[in-house]
Amino acid sequence: MRSSAEDRALRERAEKVIPGGMYGHLSARMMPEGFPQFFAGGKGTRLTDVDGNIYIDFMCAYGPNLLGYRDPQVEAAVAAQLALGDTLTGPGPAMVELAEAMVSMVSHADWAMFCKNGGDATMMALMTARAYRGKRKVLVARNAYHGAMPWNTPKPAGVLAEDRAHVIYYDYNDAQALEDAVKQADGDLAGIFASPFRHDTFARQAPVDPEYARAARRLADDYDALLIVDDVRAGLRVARDCSWSEVGVQPDLSSWGKVLGNGQPISALMGNDRAREASAKLYVTGSFWYSAVPMVAALETLRIVRETDYLERMQHVGTLFRDGLQAQSAAAGMPLTLTGPVTMPILMFDEDPDFRLGYAFCREAMLRGIYLSPFHNMFMNAAMTPADIAEVLSATADSFEALKTNRDSITPAPAVLALMGD
Ligand code: PMP
Repeated sequence: MRSSAEDRALRERAEKVIPGGMYGHLSARMMPEGFPQFFAGGKGTRLTDVDGNIYIDFMCAYGPNLLGYRDPQVEAAVAAQLALGDTLTGPGPAMVELAEAMVSMVSHADWAMFCKNGGDATMMALMTARAYRGKRKVLVARNAYHGAMPWNTPKPAGVLAEDRAHVIYYDYNDAQALEDAVKQADGDLAGIFASPFRHDTFARQAPVDPEYARAARRLADDYDALLIVDDVRAGLRVARDCSWSEVGVQPDLSSWGKVLGNGQPISALMGNDRAREASAKLYVTGSFWYSAVPMVAALETLRIVRETDYLERMQHVGTLFRDGLQAQSAAAGMPLTLTGPVTMPILMFDEDPDFRLGYAFCREAMLRGIYLSPFHNMFMNAAMTPADIAEVLSATADSFEALKTNRDSITPAPAVLALMGD
């Protein structure tokens, strides 16, 4: 029998000592009713909440879990470095080894700088673009997420118009819109930000249009500005290189995070020689940016990325999951489509304008031990096996049955209504 007493008790205590009870992207308030907020642990594909309920987890900590939680090889590297020291007065040799490893894998890049979160890396990309020629304007696709810094956070509280005075928005995949935005920059263009593909929340994902990617490259060259691909979310789930290597377009800068240390806190900005001098001028740092443990975790993660078929295995289970779920939904008479790469799909019912079916379906799946999201892209990890997917599909088959039975009583999710009223 599923319990949630411990989670409820922690939420009540959190309300008193944490503003709003929880904040940011891991707030369970955005999830369907009954999703747990607090977790006790994770191993491989499985996540355990504080009440002991176990889930096959398709969110992977919103990305960082690439190889499976507590991957034994990464854990061994972590333990060995922990025994020597982690946060010291300077970095260890792993910093140089990691920069070398990343430069050898990411074809556009000649250097790497390390930080903690994806938002650090995108902020450094923004600063590098401005330091490059002393220009100010940066082009950002509308609704694209590049972190919670004032220049990009999706909520208005605490943000000044001045923080975004030099951000110009364009529509992703629209070469003409990009061209218009460059004109608007009026000779003051510092950089162009692009996601590897369109992976906005509450929206169908779309692959990058190679023509748009080539236009971004050409415009950056024509105006002597820097092209930035934000691979924080998609990095190493699309390619073993920068994701735009798949369409043959090389950016000047790429931002990385999430998967790099398989859950250890580390992110990176990578760049080419054109951007080297500008980035060397920046003063950017943090108390924990040089810690050795996340760096050895990243070295081990990248070794596994280079030497194993982790990506092909994720693509295989991702295909089984997508095809199985779509077939079940069609058979149930409420078709859904999983868009985006099979390793990072978003799940949306074809006829579900207020997301009520999506929320109700993910709730049914959660009650059966499958952790899905109705509004954010999900993530495959390399520990998932075809047997896991068979288990998942058995649970989702039951979830569709439950949905069919209750269909007429499903109401819009409060989380979505709150968002629409924002
Ligand atoms: N860029 C993208 C594309 C992201 O998805 C995210 C995080 N979801 C970030 C930047 C920011 O990363 P972080 O939350 O680690 O600061």
